[in-house]
Amino acid sequence: MTQRRVLFLMSDTGGGHRSAAEAICAALAREFPDRYDATLVDVFKRAAKFPLNHAPDLYLPLTQRAEFLWGTGFQLLNHRGTDRLAQISLRLNLMRGVQRILREPIPDLVVSVHPVFNELPRRVLRAYAPRVPFVTVVTDLFDAHRMWFDPGVDLCIVPTDGARRVAQRCGMPADKVRVIGQPISLKFLGDQRTQAEHRAELGLAERTTILLVGGGEGMGKLLDIARALDRARLPIQLVIIAGRNKALADQLRALTWHLPAHIQGFVTNMPDWMRAADLIITKAGPGTIMEALACGLPILLSGFLPGQENGNVTFVEQGGVGALRKNPDDIARLVGEWLTPGNDTLARFAARARELARPHAALDIAHALHQVLDDA
Ligand code: UDP
Repeated sequence: MTQRRVLFLMSDTGGGHRSAAEAICAALAREFPDRYDATLVDVFKRAAKFPLNHAPDLYLPLTQRAEFLWGTGFQLLNHRGTDRLAQISLRLNLMRGVQRILREPIPDLVVSVHPVFNELPRRVLRAYAPRVPFVTVVTDLFDAHRMWFDPGVDLCIVPTDGARRVAQRCGMPADKVRVIGQPISLKFLGDQRTQAEHRAELGLAERTTILLVGGGEGMGKLLDIARALDRARLPIQLVIIAGRNKALADQLRALTWHLPAHIQGFVTNMPDWMRAADLIITKAGPGTIMEALACGLPILLSGFLPGQENGNVTFVEQGGVGALRKNPDDIARLVGEWLTPGNDTLARFAARARELARPHAALDIAHALHQVLDDA
């Protein structure tokens, strides 16, 4: 049987787009063995001209050091008029490169997991191959940017009802929008081991465990939060995952700790760490939030990227699975409050987390894509 080619349009602007695409690829391989040949393309790197070809390298410094500017830009482009201007600029910069990517060779299905790669590649594809379906998989939990929503696509898969409402406000026809969930790694599907077994396997003590992370790049005030938790002398052990931020891992390892602290660089077994923990403290990355829910883990948000992550905060707070505190001392105080004997907040958050979790989302999306191809 000939394999059908699926082309994923993404970019390493943050870790979430790649994680989402990889989760769907793994789900396609598991549900339909040998039927699909999936390729991931970083469109900014492969198709863009200066300055957009530097977007993946500039994303981290920009979002970390010019947060306000980033948020303002995000909001400015989130209107119908300015969105049109953005599309014109994208066409000027990306058109040639996108034409090249979509023709080498022409795929059987195109899936975008990035807000910037929807209208333009969909139009280019229609010009060459009008029958090849184009699907968008939105990976923002609530207030997704309007660039995600192109009424010309065949299907738009969104993670939550909130995102569906935004899609419809942005002009997406109701019958093209499906709420399925955020695609997360299949490693988050059922695990029979207990929390105590996970702790033992990871070399942790049998003690209340707090997991501190900042996305794939170790973003946010992780050092200050760790210090505040250490000063508070809480009866906990702390696991800090610094991701690819090596400088942060070195700084953390150089500290003198009062509480047991386990410092990790980039880990490839995030589900194990999450299942060993009682609470996660993280910036509002959509991937990490949905992974935490899949592990029934309460969430204390320590910050969010203005614009694209505001909606993720709303999702956590309105969903009753956590809270937001930006100041490190406030974070330590709230953790102390939640751990006070008789306080049932963490138990309530954990129960709601299990209700809101959609660990099968990647598998369901794989089936939806298969269906789109069958219908084409
Ligand atoms: N992650 C990981 N190992 C690490 C740190 C992070 O695998 O050491 C993964 C995490 O599980 C999640 C992704 O990186 O899947 C981060 O995505 P998110 O949407 O939370 O944030 P982003 O990095 O895109 O801002």
